[in-house]
Amino acid sequence: MLKVYNTLSGKKEAFEPLAPGVVRMYVCGVTVYDYCHLGHARSALVFDVIRRYLEFSGYRVEFAKNFTDVDDKIIKRANEQGVSCDTITEKYIRAYYEDMGKLGIRQATVEPKATEHMADIVHLTDTLVKKGLAYQVDGDVYFEVGKYSGYGRLSKRKLDDMQAGARVEVDERKRHPMDFALWKGAKPGEPAWPSPWGQGRPGWHIECSAMAMKHLGETFDIHGGGADLIFPHHENEIAQSCGATGKEFARYWIHNGFVQINQEKMSKSLGNFFTIREIFEKWEYPETVTGEVLRYFLLATHYRSPLDFSDQGLDEAKRTLDAFYGLFKRLTEPTALSATGDEKLPSLIEELNGSFRRAMDDDVNTAIAIAAFQRFRSDVNRLLEVGLSQAACERARKAFRTFGDVLGLFQSDTWRFGVIHRVSASLTGGAYVAAGLTGHGPIADAEIERLKSERDEARKRKDFARADEIKTLLAAQGWIAEDKPDGTTRWKR
Ligand SMILES: [Zn+2]
Repeated sequence: MLKVYNTLSGKKEAFEPLAPGVVRMYVCGVTVYDYCHLGHARSALVFDVIRRYLEFSGYRVEFAKNFTDVDDKIIKRANEQGVSCDTITEKYIRAYYEDMGKLGIRQATVEPKATEHMADIVHLTDTLVKKGLAYQVDGDVYFEVGKYSGYGRLSKRKLDDMQAGARVEVDERKRHPMDFALWKGAKPGEPAWPSPWGQGRPGWHIECSAMAMKHLGETFDIHGGGADLIFPHHENEIAQSCGATGKEFARYWIHNGFVQINQEKMSKSLGNFFTIREIFEKWEYPETVTGEVLRYFLLATHYRSPLDFSDQGLDEAKRTLDAFYGLFKRLTEPTALSATGDEKLPSLIEELNGSFRRAMDDDVNTAIAIAAFQRFRSDVNRLLEVGLSQAACERARKAFRTFGDVLGLFQSDTWRFGVIHRVSASLTGGAYVAAGLTGHGPIADAEIERLKSERDEARKRKDFARADEIKTLLAAQGWIAEDKPDGTTRWKR
């Protein structure tokens, strides 16, 4: 049974879609005025994996992800470059598909653009005006937050506090500082569409409500995006949508955490800002390798935890993937004649199946799912030493492929990984302390105890690679290993 953390309720809830067997999901896409950065990559990947896991679990997924292709930033960029807005948006939509393609992000079922939904947007705005929830000032239309009693329920804010905290330069034309534009009257030279309030263009928030309801219905299952969208974007989406329909909008709100670099927020002004294409350019591996390494790296942290990006973290992900592909290679080579290990394999695959699903069912904990793959890897390595038949080798490889596909991992040809050596191109410079693969989601106590004893066993059979992996994993959870000369380990918190 899948459980997800719902930002709306503030707790993990059992996931049950509105219609049996079908999941309708909307995720806020990008504003297409620039190249996508790591934060975009993480958000796209998180919801790509959630979609894959829902499909793996037997659901049909209707997945809508939009492009914001009319916006102040786009207009500004177009004016700076002396080109049309279309030129800008077409360029960056193309770039989006290139970058996300390299990361193995599957396209959504429908990828609507704001400019292609003007009639829906105008209609929704008009409904809000007619219901008295929105008001017109000159050529603009504002949503009146004071008229929607549920305002603040997603971000857990109170309207009174927001009034007090509002910035000093209050727009006199608004009835409340938090009132937001549904429609903006056109200034000369801006793209504009006809409306009952004159020529203009939509505000950002209204487009998502209009497109989500158009493609998924007035009430649907999952609405997702980065945590930075909770307020005001998603709060405003709820106010508009519920205000217009009188029904619940999205039932589960899922938000992914930030990407940090050296524990700092990634930003252009701090100079620690990475676009996806910069990473592909600087890392001298073939695209499929870099794509898989990035996926592995990003998924090794639970989606709600902040994620620390570093060269060292990527290097470590590459080394771990090398170890996986090293095993895949051995699984295709002729083995010893003995098939002594064969009989143990089915129970190990069953164990992988169980622990993989348990991890993913627990709020899509990809960090723990990856730990299950690592365990399976060392188990299969051990069986290979005992001897596996060719058929058993193929079964083991197939298990990696089948479950790995949910995370978009382990699908490459082994030779791609085998022949390549590490490069030490530095993406982030030397000015910070490496964060490495920290920031895993919290691991349950029982699992920590299990990992400790697994590490003891790994040390006994001299599998120091696995022992070190577990040490790193537990260190990220605050557990420090003190290995004694007599082979025992003391754990300190
Ligand atoms: Zn949105």
